Amino acid sequence: MNCNECGDQLNAYVDRELTAGELGEVQRHLDDCPPCLQVFELQAGLKRLVRKECCQDEAPARLRAWVRKLPAEERRA
Ligand SMILES: [Zn+2]
Repeated sequence: MNCNECGDQLNAYVDRELTAGELGEVQRHLDDCPPCLQVFELQAGLKRLVRKECCQDEAPARLRAWVRKLPAEERRA
């Protein structure tokens, strides 16, 4: 498996949507490819954060407001 293939499967890997064989291949690649491991940890961390936020009632509204703010700030800059 190369880095491109690993990147393609990383989302499914984070979501545990791969077969056992595919999981093993991604795992092996991550074991000796620090850059891909870093991307994986970023994605897994983001997913954990989103899951945590969604358990709080007012979080979706807050999240939407935050997302709306982003382009506006870019225009001012
Ligand atoms: Zn890689």
